[in-house]
Amino acid sequence: MAELNLILLGPPGAGKGTQAERITEDFNLPYIATGNILRAAVSEGTELGIKAKSFMDAGALVPDELIIAVILERLQAADAQDGFLLDGFPRTVPQAEALGTQLAGLERHLSAVLLIDVTDEEVVRRLSGRRVSAKTGRVYHVEFDPPKNEGVCDIDGSRLIQRDDDKPETILNRLAVYHEQTEPLVGFYTELGLLRRFDGARPPVEVHDHIRAQIATLRLEDRI
Ligand code: ADP
Ligand code: AMP
Repeated sequence: MAELNLILLGPPGAGKGTQAERITEDFNLPYIATGNILRAAVSEGTELGIKAKSFMDAGALVPDELIIAVILERLQAADAQDGFLLDGFPRTVPQAEALGTQLAGLERHLSAVLLIDVTDEEVVRRLSGRRVSAKTGRVYHVEFDPPKNEGVCDIDGSRLIQRDDDKPETILNRLAVYHEQTEPLVGFYTELGLLRRFDGARPPVEVHDHIRAQIATLRLEDRI
């Protein structure tokens, strides 16, 4: 069976991480989320983290040259040879081009780009209520997906925090950055015939069902 190389695309707060948890389980794919990689680098105080922090705090993108090298190297790791799920990368056309060049050089190709579509209004609602466990990475929402006990993770009882960039003024900036720098990828991947669009306003189980059905169809087509 062909390898499954997937990209999750969509504005911040669309539900990419929420779906990724399910998709990686369904298909046993390594989950490569640039935001998580960068936040880990910041908290570990690595050179990458030190360089990335001010951009992230402002809701801006870190420069292409910082992130491209990290992700292209990550994709060479043994666990990513039979497929991967990318979340948060590519976020600019140069990043998409760099990814395409690397994959082509290795005679690999993308299976699909899954666009999770939600309105700006919904993004603001979701991001302002998002809470995460820094320890387990599990994502909650105070209203739409609350933990069993307020303020603590269901998995291990660790404390839930609000991400620094989920504060109201940064959210609006991140949305503007998405429309300006990342949305052009919708056209980019449509032209390549790779884009699949999902209505992210649906509840998480429904979005997941639609994505799974779409991937099943792709696999079927692949085998024919
Ligand atoms: P992203 O990874 O795209 O930034 P997340 O998966 O972290 O988005 O989701 C953002 C917030 O919205 C979280 O608080 C999450 O619990 C909530 N959420 C995710 N998907 C849905 C959905 N389909 N309906 C309502 N809330 C959702
Ligand atoms: P995320 O967790 O995907 O919302 O990402 C959090 C922040 O990390 C973003 O607001 C950016 O500052 C930075 N970031 C994540 N992925 C990228 C990327 N592919 N290119 C540039 N910056 C990124």
